Amino acid sequence: METEVYLGLGSNLGDRMDNLTKAVECLSQKVTIGEVSSVYETEPMYYEKQPLFLNAVVSGMTELEPIELLHFIKRIESELGRAPGPRNAPRTIDIDILFYGDRAVNTPELTVPHPALAERAFMLVPLAEIAGDFVHPLSRRTVGELLAEVSGRDGVKTWVD
Ligand code: AMP
Repeated sequence: METEVYLGLGSNLGDRMDNLTKAVECLSQKVTIGEVSSVYETEPMYYEKQPLFLNAVVSGMTELEPIELLHFIKRIESELGRAPGPRNAPRTIDIDILFYGDRAVNTPELTVPHPALAERAFMLVPLAEIAGDFVHPLSRRTVGELLAEVSGRDGVKTWVD
């Protein structure tokens, strides 16, 4: 059975746009890509002395179970040259599972919906573009409602190549 998933992509090292494009290409081996948001240039959160990110969100359908999807994503991240480093440090490509249908997953390795979604304008802005009416399965709030409440939206700008 296929499940609809929403994935967040981010890059702030190297050719950022090329990294996002390659990530979508790799993902499409196991995820039938549906919608792709615009690309946004965003200010880093948490550790702020690092380059600006490009972020986008894609939707897709997959047969992979959540943990299989996570392992597939980690393989793509390492193939695209992400050096292991501290959390929130610069990275070639970061792929997060934002939603896996309406399922909640809570294991040491994987938490879905993504636990930081509601505080991350850089995820909510592109997500709202393709899934504004999607209902967060735990908070029961729509993505559009979450976006209306998040701070830092002015740090997320449409990116023009
Ligand atoms: P980060 O360095 O922020 O990309 O964190 C990566 C780690 O977060 C991975 O090793 C995953 O095991 C873990 N993780 C937990 N929940 C998620 C999620 N929803 N999507 C992606 N990674 C997750």
